[in-house]
Amino acid sequence: MPTSGAGQDAKLLQKLHRAVIFLGPPGAGKGTQAQELARKYGVPHLSTGDMLREHIAKSTPLGLLAKPMMERGELVADSIILKIVADRIESPDCSFGFVFDGFPRTAAQAQWLGELLKQHGFKQPVVVHFAIDPALLLRRITGRRLCKTGGEIYNIYDRAPKVPGICDADGGELIQRPDDREEVVGPRLEGYRKLTAPLTAYYRRLGRLQDVDAAKSVEEVTQRVLEIVRTAR
Ligand code: ADP
Ligand code: AMP
Repeated sequence: MPTSGAGQDAKLLQKLHRAVIFLGPPGAGKGTQAQELARKYGVPHLSTGDMLREHIAKSTPLGLLAKPMMERGELVADSIILKIVADRIESPDCSFGFVFDGFPRTAAQAQWLGELLKQHGFKQPVVVHFAIDPALLLRRITGRRLCKTGGEIYNIYDRAPKVPGICDADGGELIQRPDDREEVVGPRLEGYRKLTAPLTAYYRRLGRLQDVDAAKSVEEVTQRVLEIVRTAR
């Protein structure tokens, strides 16, 4: 009998009643691992990038505001991000916990999140830091392709679909994000270095940070992430 099927893991996270935060530069593998962890534990994967892309696809006022900033590789204003996160975690499916991917990204977002989790009675978050040599990121970012329908993540160099341009899971069309073009990668990495990387020190001081060697294979990173979540205090 399996010792850690999806049912058992779901119970485990429900018992944890907490947020898992994936912190790391663009292209480090946060989305890939967040999809896997959320699927395994039966909790929502909350990617602020995906939420913004949905707003853009629907041409909402918020999407129209965010689009030019995202296309330039800049962070979107805290006020916009906090609003979409606050609305999302009110949903009943978030009551046992969730996996944040790409949030928080600024000191103000991290402080706000700490208060919000307290107010909702969540335990201290588990923060997983995806540590990786920046030299590896260009290939990961420019090679990334997403399924237009299901959001499954591929890489044309390292994690290619069986049929080029087609999602293995649901046959959807694979697309490249407009901000994954080489010329936008520099500003995105610079934004990470200036505004988001300092959060690693913040969460380390709080005793919440756990490092993962994100240069390893997807399977090895998954094993390490699962170990961190299972053994979280
Ligand atoms: P992030 O969410 O941190 O920006 P993604 O999960 O979208 O990163 O991954 C970026 C790219 O790298 C994708 O094309 C993905 O398929 C690929 N990738 C993710 N993890 C690994 C890994 N451990 N080894 C090699 N490629 C990976
Ligand atoms: P991601 O999908 O996480 O790579 O995010 C894509 C883009 O969305 C980023 O480059 C930002 O422009 C914007 N974005 C996503 N999450 C945030 C956030 N927490 N704070 C500010 N901007 C964000």
